[in-house]
Amino acid sequence: MTTDVRYRPGGDNSVLKLILHGLYKNRCYWCRVPKEYNELEIDHIIPRDASKDRLAEIGQELHLAGPLDVHDPGNLAPICRPCNNEKGAVDYTGHARILVLLRNAMKLAPRVKQNVLRFGATSGLAKALLKAATADLAAQADRELFLMHAPSIAQRLSLLGYDLDEISSYETVEVASASLGAIDFSVELSGSARRAWVILSDVCGATWRDLLDGPVDDILNAVKERALNELEVGDEVSSTTSEVPGVDFVQLDVNHVKFEREGDLFEFVVEGMFEVGMSASVARSDDRGDGLIYLNGEVYAKGTYWIGLVWDSADEDLQVNDFKVEEWSPEVLIYP
Ligand SMILES: [Zn+2]
Repeated sequence: MTTDVRYRPGGDNSVLKLILHGLYKNRCYWCRVPKEYNELEIDHIIPRDASKDRLAEIGQELHLAGPLDVHDPGNLAPICRPCNNEKGAVDYTGHARILVLLRNAMKLAPRVKQNVLRFGATSGLAKALLKAATADLAAQADRELFLMHAPSIAQRLSLLGYDLDEISSYETVEVASASLGAIDFSVELSGSARRAWVILSDVCGATWRDLLDGPVDDILNAVKERALNELEVGDEVSSTTSEVPGVDFVQLDVNHVKFEREGDLFEFVVEGMFEVGMSASVARSDDRGDGLIYLNGEVYAKGTYWIGLVWDSADEDLQVNDFKVEEWSPEVLIYP
């Protein structure tokens, strides 16, 4: 028996896809939108048809033992069809973004391999679970069957002591950023965040916009400043023209909501994680000052945040009174 977990060209990759889907928390790795199993495909981050020289180069850049193996889980990630089409139409191999995504996939690869091997897929139960997890629910009859009977499986999980709070749900949110316009993204809610949200929305009348407009705008502005600073730095000869950066994706998770009461006042603290990707380009004078060179920059920022809210039950007024990005690590990548 082989213990080699790789993508099999033309073969059955359904277990591999199921494991990737789970480890990427049901999201397309390119646009970060949560998708159903059948809306995602397995993407080769560095395309299968990349040249041998390029694969050797990437192997060196990432300190691998040899050239990159395109079918290794370290080069695989779940992608939605629209993103796959977009990605397939552009040569991204030189883009900085690819290396960040590749490094992330390499970090996940040992878990992908371990989970695929553990799944086994030979027992009757493994086969049934795979079928249930990957069934095409676009078909009306299967969808009805699934909706009717899948909850009893969740009930069995509950009887086994599994914490159903660990199952996330997603809400689509649109916020208005003063400098970047309307931005759509999905917020991932843990079970405890979901319960707290019921209180915040039903009792305090909160909307996602009330809660997130300001904080998301602040996060995006901080990332934008960082992107433009890095792109413009070191250019003392002439000014650079930079475009307004484009938001590639926003991912926001709400992990915990704590609350306390003091008289009429209820204080809520919403905590979670964010991840943002932005890109911008600048035109800069070349060394001789008689021409322009173009640079592209991408920023990835990851961090934790908390938002403090106060609801005054006497006059039914809800205010965001504090917001803090606790840790964040921007990674700025510039390429010609
Ligand atoms: Zn996508």
